[in-house]
Formats: sequence, structure tokens, C-alpha cells
Amino acid sequence: MRTEVAIVGAGPAGLLLSHLLGREGVDSVVVETRSREYVEARIRAGILESSTVGLLDEVGLGDRLHREGQQHRGIYLQWPGERHHLDFVELAGRSVWLYGQTELTKDLGLARDAAGQHIRYGVRDTRLHDLTTGHPYVTFTDADGGAARIDPNVVVGCDGSFGPSRAAVPDAGKQTWERTYPYAWLGILATVAPSTDELIYAWHPEGFALHSMRSASVSRLYLQVDPDTDLDEWPDERIWDALARRLGAGLEGWDLTPGPITEKSVLPMRSFVMAPMRYGRLFLAGDAAHIVPPTGAKGLNLAVADVALLAPALVALVQKNDGRLAEAYSEAALRRVWRSTHFSWWMTTMLHPNGDPFDTQLQRSQLRWVTSSRAAATGLAENYAGLPIGC
Ligand SMILES: Cc1cc2nc3c(=O)[nH]c(=O)nc-3n(C[C@H](O)[C@H](O)[C@H](O)COP(=O)(O)OP(=O)(O)OC[C@H]3O[C@@H](n4cnc5c(N)ncnc54)[C@H](O)[C@@H]3O)c2cc1C
Repeated sequence: MRTEVAIVGAGPAGLLLSHLLGREGVDSVVVETRSREYVEARIRAGILESSTVGLLDEVGLGDRLHREGQQHRGIYLQWPGERHHLDFVELAGRSVWLYGQTELTKDLGLARDAAGQHIRYGVRDTRLHDLTTGHPYVTFTDADGGAARIDPNVVVGCDGSFGPSRAAVPDAGKQTWERTYPYAWLGILATVAPSTDELIYAWHPEGFALHSMRSASVSRLYLQVDPDTDLDEWPDERIWDALARRLGAGLEGWDLTPGPITEKSVLPMRSFVMAPMRYGRLFLAGDAAHIVPPTGAKGLNLAVADVALLAPALVALVQKNDGRLAEAYSEAALRRVWRSTHFSWWMTTMLHPNGDPFDTQLQRSQLRWVTSSRAAATGLAENYAGLPIGC
């Protein structure tokens, strides 16, 4: 197969990049190891920054999001005995939208169908070759077991943290930074109306808890747990009891309504950045180049911001042989990556007790500060609601 751009991975980064390129008349081929049903049902992120929503609107992907998503003005921050609302619209002039990654992925899939794009789902053995030459290529085994090869001008790795793209860059061609946190999140999806109108981020001596949601009838909640937690030790009743305690049931008459749990998993917490986000004719975008802990709701938004910068760079490169934006891509993308990496680390370390009494006092002091100083609250709001793409 000859094409302009070979895209490895059909998560949000890969699908959106293919959509943005297609709108400018640039042909791409997308390969994905999982089935379409699996990719579209994968429960992950749920908060879209204002700049993500702005971009989706601009490129014709915002209709269902505005119909079925929920606009949130801010979040609640709390610790035992106190709950405070931070209003991002008032503080920073921007809101966020609640819209599941599953829904965005379905919208992207339908948009690619409408454009006649064939995504190759269910492939195996994806390999990237000759990335530093003028003729890179990608090989894989297709869903029917046939050997296949793509010959593009450029390859884009949108294959998440365990895909082959990052691994294709030799150690000498990259620098990496990593932080592993000594805790994880036990996440549940429950068929019950949320007990809150906006997300509650709760510091508690037993551990952090987050009350999020996916729709008017589906709640998403998280508990801080040890990374080696065995889910068998967390029957539903224990989860709801811990959530109610940590989220402050009884506080000013508030209560948490439990419901049937339909999904349960443990998410490790990690920060990771690789630079540069380019190696010869290979460009990296999204989780393939960086991972953030989910506390700041940044992973999906960073993937969107990367491809928003990369798409025009690739259009200029393949249509006009103008490589200036492509040369600048990694540095420009990494500015936002590091801002979001810092914000996600900051939210994470402020909200997760780690057993150190000195850190506990610092966390309580920070929480009092961001809920009592307009300047501090504005900093949180600006980062959470998201800076304009390109900043
Ligand atoms: C388990 C998990 C839970 C998360 N939960 C949250 C959350 O609660 N809140 C939040 O804000 N963020 C969350 N995130 C982060 C957010 O979902 C990611 O940042 C986002 O999905 C990044 O999009 P992406 O397209 O870069 O990567 P991905 O969505 O990971 O997509 C990469 C795609 O590449 C495919 N692929 C991998 N290997 C190959 C190969 N060899 N060949 C072809 N295709 C390949 C994968 O199957 C996948 O579809 C979570 C992430 C993970 C991994």
C-alpha cells in the first residue's frame, strides 16, 4: 500500500490525526491491533479541555458532544469537614466538558467511515523499518493472516505506551524521564446517577477519592489503593463504604448513592516523557510519547493537542515539501507536555497521602491555599480547563 502517512494505532490520537489529514486532502492508512468494538468500548478518560472542544467543533466533530456531553464550570476540592467549589469560568474564563473517550472514539470512527477511510483493525506483528531513510515502511500481519506492507512518506506512532513506535527509536536517539508513584487507583463504573453535579476531588487520611461520571445514569469513581492491590479483596460493599467515607458522606447533608458496579480495575500511576517526539521520518503523538497520572485529566487532551500541531506540519511536509513545521513539532508539543506533566504531578502529589506526616501537612496547606487564594485557584483553573493549543 502506498500512502502519504502511515498511522500506527487507532486510539484518539491516531483517529483524529487521520481525520485532520483527510480534511486537507492528505491520504493516510491506519493500523490497529485491537478490534473496532474493543477500541470503542475501552473505558478511559472523560474530561475534555476547552481547547479540545474548540478543535472538535472546528473540524465537524462537536455535534453529539454538545448534545449529549455535560459542560462543567469547575470541580469540588475537599478534605474531611470542608468542601469548596472552584469555578473555572469565573476564574479563567473557560469550562471543561464531560464526554467519555468511548464516545469521542465512536464519533471519530463514524467520521472516518463517512470519509471512506478504511482502518485496518485486528492486525498483528506491526513493525517499523528504515525510519531514518527517505523510504520508511511498516509491515504487519492483517486480520486475515496475510502479510502486508505500507510505504508512506512518514510514519506516525499513535500506539500508546506499549506500542512498537517508541521502542523503534534507539536509546541514542531519545531521552526519557519517568516517575512511578507509590499508589494506584481502583476505578469503578457504576449504573447509578452521579451523587454530584461536578467532579469531587477528595483528600482523606485513608487515601484520595474521586467522584466522576460518564452520563446522567452512569458514575465513575476512584479510590487510592496500593499498586499491588488484589481486586478480590475489594468486594462492592467495601468499595462503596470506602468511597462514602472518603467523599464525606454526611457532610452538610450530602450522601453518596451506591449502585451496581459494571467494571472494576486497578490503574497504576506514572509520569513519563520521551524527547524528541521525532526520529527521522517517525513522529510520535499521544501516549506513545508521554504518560501522565490521570489526576489532572490530561492524557486524552494532550493526545489531541499533539495531533493538532502535527497535522498542519505533515500537510506542509507532504504537499509542499516544506519541513519547517515538522522540524518545530517536537519542541512545540513538548512545551505543553511538560506543562501538563507538571500540573498532573502537582495535583497528584497534593491529593494522595503517602504516609509521611510532613507531606500530609504540606498537602493540607496547599489545599487550603488553592481554595482560599484567588491567584492560586486561578492557576489550578487555567491548567485544568486547559491552555490554548500551541501554548
Ligand atoms: C488503562 C488506562 C486508563 C486510563 N484512564 C484515564 C482516566 O480515567 N482519565 C484520564 O484522563 N485519562 C485516562 N487515561 C489516559 C487516556 O486514556 C490516554 O491518554 C489516551 O487514550 C491517549 O490516547 P492515544 O491515542 O495516544 O493512545 P491510546 O488510546 O492508548 O491508543 C493507542 C492505540 O494503539 C494501539 N496499538 C498498540 N500497539 C499497536 C501495534 N503494535 N500496532 C497497531 N496498533 C497498536 C492500541 O490498541 C490503541 O488502540 C487512561 C489510560 C489508560 C491506558
